[in-house]
Amino acid sequence: MKRIKLSKDCFLEGKILKKGTEIEILEYNRTSKTKYGDTAKNKDRYGSNKTMDKDTYNLRRRVMKHIYEAKNAIEKSGRDFDRVTVRITQDTIHSVLGFSRRGDYIIWVPEETVNEPEELLRYVVYHELLHGNYDIGHNDLNFLMRPVLPKRMKSLEELNTALIEQLTHFNK
Ligand SMILES: [Zn+2]
Repeated sequence: MKRIKLSKDCFLEGKILKKGTEIEILEYNRTSKTKYGDTAKNKDRYGSNKTMDKDTYNLRRRVMKHIYEAKNAIEKSGRDFDRVTVRITQDTIHSVLGFSRRGDYIIWVPEETVNEPEELLRYVVYHELLHGNYDIGHNDLNFLMRPVLPKRMKSLEELNTALIEQLTHFNK
């Protein structure tokens, strides 16, 4: 973990923050050796899974919409899509937009993120999906897996193109 001063406002796994803000950078896409919620410290940092009641189900459904968009694009490219587990969290520290366990087919989305504009939620879902289902880390191939958000939110088509480009590049 290290502290940095933001040179631009916008972080991906750290929410949108103003330029000049000092923040702690954490590795949000965890290796499979780190279990979600296995320590009190992690629980504080990442919050806890919300109980699957009607409200949570509705939040999850909004995330699943973007999972299906990604699934369609992936299947259209001739690939199989493996099922991913989606959990909605609560009491997550304010600077986290989403997180995943790399290569473990699971992503977590804080309820606050679900309430963000749809373009941002879709972006987070696609980004975390590449971590969680395909074990792809941050890279500069295109905007999708950079650790900072693009200045302009992207369209569904732009996200789909970037998604397939990532999978092709990493032979997934
Ligand atoms: Zn990431």
